[in-house]
Amino acid sequence: MRLLLHICCGPCAVYPVRVLREAGHEVRGLFFNPNIQPYQEFARRLQALEDFARHAGLPVIWHRSYDLEGWLRMVAFREAERCRLCYYLRLRQAARVARGGGFAAFTSTLLYSRYQKHELVRELGEQAAREVGVDFYYQDFREGWTAGVAESRALGLYRQAYCGCIFSERDRFAPRGGGDPEDARKGRLRGEG
Ligand code: SF4
Repeated sequence: MRLLLHICCGPCAVYPVRVLREAGHEVRGLFFNPNIQPYQEFARRLQALEDFARHAGLPVIWHRSYDLEGWLRMVAFREAERCRLCYYLRLRQAARVARGGGFAAFTSTLLYSRYQKHELVRELGEQAAREVGVDFYYQDFREGWTAGVAESRALGLYRQAYCGCIFSERDRFAPRGGGDPEDARKGRLRGEG
């Protein structure tokens, strides 16, 4: 079928693109990730996907605009719910693009990462599909986690160290439960985190 694949980043696209194509689907990517902060990180991940798309001959619909204000306003005072809001924003956009472009269904590389809230991604993908009127294609791409990581490393793709937003960057590097930021800095220099 003609499938729209929302792509969060290059490394996470490697395995889903391969298995979807092997299953006979015609895959087109969609880059829409206003959650990636700061801007240089956004540009770096976009570049990594451009590199992979060129390598794989993957056509991609690019949303290159960077609506930082809109994303921050969306989660302001609802920071604890930010992942639900963030997933929904991106999946709903994927659903809209899929419907507008006449795709049979849409799916997301968020279903590949072991670090995402998998069941929540599935729930919100199905919700967006119902609301917009297009099918959500569910597959647990986590089964190919190890193979995808190895392949993305072999391709030399940039691999990020945190999910995307400034909150996830803090949670990745800041000392848990308070403490001295200097300890975090030393830990980071040692490659811990
Ligand atoms: S942690 Fe990831 S999924 Fe959650 S709000 Fe931040 S960027 Fe979005």
